[in-house]
Amino acid sequence: MKRICVLGSTGSIGVQGLKVIYENKDRFKVSVLTCNKNIHLLREQIILHKPEAVVVADEEGGRALRKEFPGLEVLISIEGLIEAVSSAHDMILNGIVGIAGLLPTYYGLKNKNSVALANKEALVTGGHIIMELSQKTGASIIPVDSEHSAIFQCLEGNKQTYVKRLILTASGGPFLGKSLKELSKVTVKEALNHPKWSMGRKITIDSATLMNKGLEIIEARWLFNQDYKNIDVVIHKESIVHSMVEFIDGSILGQMGKPDMRVPISYALSYPERLASFEDGPDFLKEGSSLSFSQPDYDTFKCLDLARQAGEMGGSYPVALNGANEVLVHRFLKGEIPFLGIQEGVERALSNHKGVRNPKLEEILKIDEEVRNSI
Ligand code: NDP
Ligand code: MG
Repeated sequence: MKRICVLGSTGSIGVQGLKVIYENKDRFKVSVLTCNKNIHLLREQIILHKPEAVVVADEEGGRALRKEFPGLEVLISIEGLIEAVSSAHDMILNGIVGIAGLLPTYYGLKNKNSVALANKEALVTGGHIIMELSQKTGASIIPVDSEHSAIFQCLEGNKQTYVKRLILTASGGPFLGKSLKELSKVTVKEALNHPKWSMGRKITIDSATLMNKGLEIIEARWLFNQDYKNIDVVIHKESIVHSMVEFIDGSILGQMGKPDMRVPISYALSYPERLASFEDGPDFLKEGSSLSFSQPDYDTFKCLDLARQAGEMGGSYPVALNGANEVLVHRFLKGEIPFLGIQEGVERALSNHKGVRNPKLEEILKIDEEVRNSI
């Protein structure tokens, strides 16, 4: 029986992770559940999954839950989150959104817990620290992001020296094919209407700007220890091929499946085994009978190259990119700035940033805060 600590259990990844855990009750058990503010859903999850402890980042919500469940350990705030990931679990599923996922990843690995990592912002901002820590403690990181899960699966049994390049696929989001002029008028509702994936609000907007794919380039650089020049992006609007690896002999391996996050979550939780699934894979004779691949429109969707540039400049540049993006996406969702204001603001933040090489954890958090305050 694997005891799983589910961080961000009330979010899109968390809820799907709990489905996988519940459907495999003979293998998995929840040790801890965590949320930010949504104690309404957390309450239902406590009753169904009977965790040993929960963490609520929001203090008020945490105190309310303590009164409601006097027999349950209810930890509060970031200190509570660090305490929870520091105790022993067989695996931590990190489905927290944003840089808030960095410290729990760090302390989880530091205490030798393996991490099934959906939270890409931890690697974007602190990849150099996180990967080194995983190596040092021997606690593994298994990617949950569908592209990285695909690459992880394609790399199984192959030597690092056999790899020529990684090919990340991108659906293109809801605005594929649109011009800058058309993008200047798009609404929040349109941006939240992703054609293929159902996800949390922040990553859905990141998918519409293509920042998500940019963040994934940086995520891939750290997870698979590849140079940026060996990481390519192709638009694949059917979202069936989740990513590919080209090897030195000219072979390309790809991993395919329906766009359903339960598949990579299930793989990460059960690795190195595979679990029998609730659904079949894609039927090529019915749907997706043609698979298309094309070049991203870099001139229109500027976030893709901005992220690559930040990654290549290294040091604290990805921290600045990420912090600016988080603030600007939030503002767009609140209707305060137009859609194109996101890429314009990120570009400005990057050009104003004075980079620090090899930032330590405390420096990353400080730079993140400074960038947020300057936007
Ligand atoms: P959601 O917004 O749906 O969920 C985020 C979760 O994190 C919620 O449980 C939320 O709690 C919690 N949370 C938010 N802020 C904090 C905080 N400051 N401290 C502690 N907990 C917090 O996000 P997603 O599930 O869509 O995404 C999670 C991560 O996984 C992201 O990094 C995303 O890029 C990545 N990812 C997601 C995919 C998807 O299909 N959704 C696919 C691939 C990667 P509350 O509900 O209380 O607000
Ligand atoms: Mg992805």
